[in-house]
Amino acid sequence: MYKAPRGTADILPEEQPYWRLIEAHASALCEQYGYQRIDTPVFEESELFARSVGGATDVIEKETYSFADRSGDWMTLRPEGTAAVCRAYLEHGMRVLPQPVRLYSVRVPMFRYDRPQAGRQRQFHQINVEAIGNGDASLDAEIIELAWRFFAELGLHDLDLIINSIGDRDSRASYVEALLSYYHPHIESLCPDCKSRFKTNPLRLLDCKKQSCQPYLVDAPRSVDHLTDDSRKHWDDLTGYLTTLGLDYTVDHRLVRGLDYYSRTVFEIQPPVEGAQSTLGGGGRYDGLIEQLGGQPTPGVGFACGVERVILNLKRQGIEPPRAGELDAVVVYMGDPAKEAAVMLASKLRAAGVQTVLAPAGRSLKAQMRYASSLAAAHVLVLGEDELAQGTVTVKDMAGGEQRQVPLDDAPAAVSRSS
Ligand code: AMP
Repeated sequence: MYKAPRGTADILPEEQPYWRLIEAHASALCEQYGYQRIDTPVFEESELFARSVGGATDVIEKETYSFADRSGDWMTLRPEGTAAVCRAYLEHGMRVLPQPVRLYSVRVPMFRYDRPQAGRQRQFHQINVEAIGNGDASLDAEIIELAWRFFAELGLHDLDLIINSIGDRDSRASYVEALLSYYHPHIESLCPDCKSRFKTNPLRLLDCKKQSCQPYLVDAPRSVDHLTDDSRKHWDDLTGYLTTLGLDYTVDHRLVRGLDYYSRTVFEIQPPVEGAQSTLGGGGRYDGLIEQLGGQPTPGVGFACGVERVILNLKRQGIEPPRAGELDAVVVYMGDPAKEAAVMLASKLRAAGVQTVLAPAGRSLKAQMRYASSLAAAHVLVLGEDELAQGTVTVKDMAGGEQRQVPLDDAPAAVSRSS
């Protein structure tokens, strides 16, 4: 028997109310802030991600699903959202639009080859929000507020907002130098991953979760102590705006996030349950990214969150989505002569906007009634010999048990929700 590939999941009908709730909420909220929807392809040229996310990141080194297509061009299933949106910004000349361009996507399939566990899949889905073309800290604050409201208004509570500044390109150089000279005497004691991070991606030294590397983190230099004047002002402005907006935050000097393109602001929103796989969402500024992809220098800031992880946390906190409305009507019938009338009645009801299911053929009336109650239909419409002869239908209200006979033409009105 076939199974869904490891790390992927079917989203079954009973899960759909969560997805509907999250998508509708995300879209409404983003549009409230003036963001417009964009959808980009599931795969892109591999080079796009290598140039943006960074060749020495875990995502690119170990986690991409890449393939050569039939013409031999390397393609990669999208592992994150920002690079593709920036590519689209450039490709469609969005620079001429009023800046910043505010874009969002919902239920975006993402692919990362990682060890699956609760909250970590190989195909998962994100909501992405990007504001491209303005470098002011008020825009970082806007995105952070939007992200915070997204979770809070779903009813999630006890969340933490964590922020940091990893500085711009100039501050990064001096900070990385400080980090390297601090770690240099300890290099032999570091875990194998950190030994390689020391050479290829020193910021990620701060991200290490291994017990043996924790002691070195305590006194590691802090990026906020190495900011250029501009980046310092940006940081002070941002923390000021967050305070004005009444958003409580914690500064975590170890927060660097995994991808190369971040600059200045980085942030994450975490649920109360501890654990590496717990982060609900995060984002930050990527001021050098568009230039790196061949465009004019253009600042940007964004946010992404994983839908599966949001659902996991909604369940943990006992938050239920509104259930989809129950079925309005099941049409049951007795014998072949009534069958044609039943097919027609079901079609008419649907055309009138009534959710209708026709009972399966070849069953007794009793079995059809059982079927109707197993679907929790609000009404059952019975077509028997009498009804057929009189051009009527018997409408049974399943909750109250009352039944009445109405002319066939009146059936839609008799079962519609407003009646
Ligand atoms: P990242 O781009 O790694 O910062 O991821 C942003 C968000 O996407 C995370 O906070 C998670 O909510 C979600 N996410 C990332 N990786 C996975 C994964 N492998 N499975 C499920 N959700 C994920």
